[in-house]
Amino acid sequence: KAKELGANDYYFYNSDLKVRLERKISLTTKLAKALEENDIKVYFQPLIDLKSGKITGAEALARWQTDTSRFIRPDEFIEAAEESGLIGTLGDHVLNKSCENLRKWHDAGFENLTMSVNLSVKQMNDQNLVTKTKNALKKYSLKPTDLVYEITENVAMKDFDATLALFKELSGLGVKISMDDFGTGYSSLAYLKQFPLNSIKIDKVFLQNIPENEKDNNLIKGIVWMAKSLGLNVVAEGVENKFQSEFLREIGCNGCQGYYYSRPLPEDEFFDYLKAVRRDE
Ligand code: C2E
Ligand code: MG
Ligand code: MG
Ligand code: MG
Repeated sequence: KAKELGANDYYFYNSDLKVRLERKISLTTKLAKALEENDIKVYFQPLIDLKSGKITGAEALARWQTDTSRFIRPDEFIEAAEESGLIGTLGDHVLNKSCENLRKWHDAGFENLTMSVNLSVKQMNDQNLVTKTKNALKKYSLKPTDLVYEITENVAMKDFDATLALFKELSGLGVKISMDDFGTGYSSLAYLKQFPLNSIKIDKVFLQNIPENEKDNNLIKGIVWMAKSLGLNVVAEGVENKFQSEFLREIGCNGCQGYYYSRPLPEDEFFDYLKAVRRDE
């Protein structure tokens, strides 16, 4: 009986692997085509200053719109892009689109807005990242301080020395660095004093049960207190309701982002959103 089960397990494992591999290959082929045909869109989600309630910037989030007008989220395709080497093209596209849109917003009178762009492991290892960054900023007449790179702990800790060197180079230029998904990675807190960080972004898992859950409340309070004591800006992601936003403001969290304010929007809708918010002020 046991042997039978074992054989079955093996069979399922094997076919599962095959299916996954085939899926991955077809995903890579489709992704290459999507990049060529400009089907990878960049959406923008506003970042809000909790004290003033004003928009301080946006995070660029990649979206893949398939022919059936279905959207494939980055969690599904970033990994495929990394493994196939397409992440370079994808990353360049996101950086370029982000700077292009930020230029447009600045020209429309929203001069103080910043742009946050996510970086994956392979992008961090790209020897040309600094040059690409400088070029994009120059092309759209933006200041290095207009740009924020978001890196997750796992990505940053992969090679500590290389990360430190890169962060120093970027922050030397004036580009800001934010630690994304803070609190969920495999890392030690020691890096907080060594990396030249501008801000941390508290992961949305910590937000889910506040303000009902006393432990989560205290955990967030502690994170905010610690980060601010180290001179860092604290941003919370995944804010979905008024209670969360009020709680965060009360405990001194600097910024936040989430569906409560707006979902990530296509470039035109984001631009309309900016103008609508200004009209209401
Ligand atoms: P992230 O950088 O932590 O981005 C935040 C994610 O939370 C986004 O998911 C966003 O749509 C989602 N989100 C925002 N507000 C809320 C909320 O109120 N509730 C909930 N439940 N979720 C919210 P998304 O767009 O699916 O992106 C997932 C991850 O993929 C990102 O996490 C980022 O690590 C990566 N990613 C996205 N775009 C890019 C890109 O252009 N380049 C790279 N390298 N990575 C990207
Ligand atoms: Mg991010
Ligand atoms: Mg995040
Ligand atoms: Mg994330």
